[in-house]
Amino acid sequence: MTPATLDAAALRADFPILQQQVNGHPLVYLDSGATSQRPRQVLQAEYDFLTGANAAVHRGAHTLAAEATDHFEDARAVVAGFVGARPEQLVWISGATLGINLVAYAIGNATAGRGAPASARFALAPGDEIVTTEIEHHANLIPWQELAARTGAVLRHIPAHDDGTLDMDAAAEVISERTRIVAFTHVSNVLGIINPVEDLVALAQRVGALTVLDACQSAPHLRLDLPALGVDLAVFSGHKMLGPYGVGGLYGRSDVLETLPPFLTGGSMITTVTLDEAGYLPPPQRFEAGTQPIGPAVGLAAAVTYIQDAGIDAIHAHEARLAARMREGLVQIPGIRLLGDAPGAERVGLWSFDVDGVHAHDAGQFLDAQGIAVRVGHHCAAPLHRRFGITASVRASLALYNTEDDVDALLDAVSGIRPYFG
Ligand code: PLP
Repeated sequence: MTPATLDAAALRADFPILQQQVNGHPLVYLDSGATSQRPRQVLQAEYDFLTGANAAVHRGAHTLAAEATDHFEDARAVVAGFVGARPEQLVWISGATLGINLVAYAIGNATAGRGAPASARFALAPGDEIVTTEIEHHANLIPWQELAARTGAVLRHIPAHDDGTLDMDAAAEVISERTRIVAFTHVSNVLGIINPVEDLVALAQRVGALTVLDACQSAPHLRLDLPALGVDLAVFSGHKMLGPYGVGGLYGRSDVLETLPPFLTGGSMITTVTLDEAGYLPPPQRFEAGTQPIGPAVGLAAAVTYIQDAGIDAIHAHEARLAARMREGLVQIPGIRLLGDAPGAERVGLWSFDVDGVHAHDAGQFLDAQGIAVRVGHHCAAPLHRRFGITASVRASLALYNTEDDVDALLDAVSGIRPYFG
């Protein structure tokens, strides 16, 4: 079925921040991979909550507390539904970084003998292996390095081909009987290539390993059904999908969340407490210690509703069309090397590139002078850049509000970079 088309020019009216001039030029915002902009509807939802129903949730005896709890739990149902999950399978987190650390520390706690007897299934022994990939964001790398250091587990990596696709032959060897965890990204924030989640899950399931998916760069752009993908756990950040900062989702299969020990402990996640010990609530509350980002959760639900109203398939098609236009233009500019230009690969709408002879930071400043916002540096993926023999790149990332004019402005400006720097 052909997805409905998207009228990006009309949608832009919902994004006040896009209406401005930067350095004397209309803003061309191509940094949504770092953080996306919020439509009025999201800002309004948070405002309405904060001015109409704000209170601490759960267990309040007063009317506002009950209303706030309804908003908070309704938001959970909306966001869970967006990724194909049930509400109790969605834990609020502050963002993907916290979510992956939560999982890594919870597994560390299981290794230390904490949690219910069933938590022992997660315990690691020295020599057990944790597998990630060469293309991960630091958020899906360093927590595993730390867990390996704490437990004596060994970290292994699935390498990438020169075109940025994962080497699946190597994956079949790296994932072995010793593998206990396979943590990988759905879409690299540098390459934009959609990775073969189901194939990696199959390799992990063959050896009984736990799978952890970083869905940060897929959730805003692709139809996601996490239970159907078969992953055990997955994380995403609200601020990358038109939502507020400080909120995101950790999805977990029910049997996994029910047996995983908590990471953070304290108020709101307990049944009974004595001076010496505590009992813990079932998920998702077991993982939600302390006061939660209630307004941001309401905002994220509004963002998800906005995306659903625009149509996630229409968004994907729109961004893919713009990304193809961007590629066509970039490959014609002398001295531009695209990262992850794998023939036929399925992608989301972002391209990172190296400009021969010009540092990415200089290129970024040159573009900024023309009102074009891109990201420069290693994009928290230093090993991946090292793999490509560079330390930094320029990244242009799209969202539903970008237009052909944005892409053409980028192409026009990029073609001036090398002539300018001589
Ligand atoms: N994973 C990927 C692929 C990302 O792009 C990012 C953010 O750039 C993160 C994880 C970390 O997200 P956050 O900073 O919202 O925790």
